[in-house]
Amino acid sequence: MKTLIPFSLFLLFTSIIVAQPNPKYALVIHGGAGVMSEKSMTPEMQKEYLFVLNHALEVGDSVLSHGGSCMDAVVGTIMVMEDSPLFNAGKGAVLTHDGTVELDASVMNGKTLEAGAVAGITDIKNPIALARTVMEKSEHVFLVGKGASQFAVEQGFKLVPNSYFYTDKRYPQLQELLKKERDSGINDKHGTVGCVALDKSGNIAAGTSTGGMTNKRYGRIGDAPIIGAGTYANNATGGFSCTGHGEYYIRLGFSRDISALVEYRQLGVQKACQAEIEKLTRLGGTGGVIGLDKKGNISMEFNTSGMFRGFIKSNGEKQVAIFK
Ligand code: ASP
Repeated sequence: MKTLIPFSLFLLFTSIIVAQPNPKYALVIHGGAGVMSEKSMTPEMQKEYLFVLNHALEVGDSVLSHGGSCMDAVVGTIMVMEDSPLFNAGKGAVLTHDGTVELDASVMNGKTLEAGAVAGITDIKNPIALARTVMEKSEHVFLVGKGASQFAVEQGFKLVPNSYFYTDKRYPQLQELLKKERDSGINDKHGTVGCVALDKSGNIAAGTSTGGMTNKRYGRIGDAPIIGAGTYANNATGGFSCTGHGEYYIRLGFSRDISALVEYRQLGVQKACQAEIEKLTRLGGTGGVIGLDKKGNISMEFNTSGMFRGFIKSNGEKQVAIFK
């Protein structure tokens, strides 16, 4: 008896470890930050945005709940938003000065610190999928323009005409800016998309996809495809995806700096994101960032009046929001 009790306790203990209930997962998304008010958006428009945000979260949730990888979740979730004409990524992206569409995207794997990015894409339906393929199937991190398209074709991607990305609402936006040519002559019409996911294995991935800023010219590239600016992931610190005036994000090394704040100053992801947004504000930039860490702590910070955003967790917690 003396030996039996401890042995049965041992059995009970090991069975608890083996049958450990579902490990945690989490996913957070953004669909761009900017000036937006409840007045400027009809209830129908708000409903449409919330519908797509919810759908994107569900797609990511279904990957993660079935034990899929964080990278599958990030790319699958972002593709939903790229395919929606509502966001400034893939179909519905903003127009360049010349009235065309040029897309940027990147992904990063927080376990290996591998990354893939593309910029100036004119003919690939889902730039985020191409960014992932650059990471997985090439020896490079960052491909641009024609070379990126050539690589895509070699990898079996189908080309689409640039007109595929065109939606009627982007044309007046460009005309308005061409007429004013104010500020730097470019402007963001919010709608860049991003996603960060933590999977059941405890790995983190991040991705960002965008058409950049309306009226951009001269081959301008923003922060979204720049690893360490618009996108960063490291299992040890967290994953981050940004949206906003890209030039500021590049100058701040925005997402890498957040990771450094977590790594060197032991800040939590939310504190680190807040601190970085403060730096952005001091510099005169606007925008937002989403992030999460390996415990599933979520951060959604911005210094604008709104950011399309949402998250979902394995414990059933879920949220979607637009305004502050
Ligand atoms: N960050 C993007 C860029 O500068 C634009 C945006 O997020 O609205 O290209």
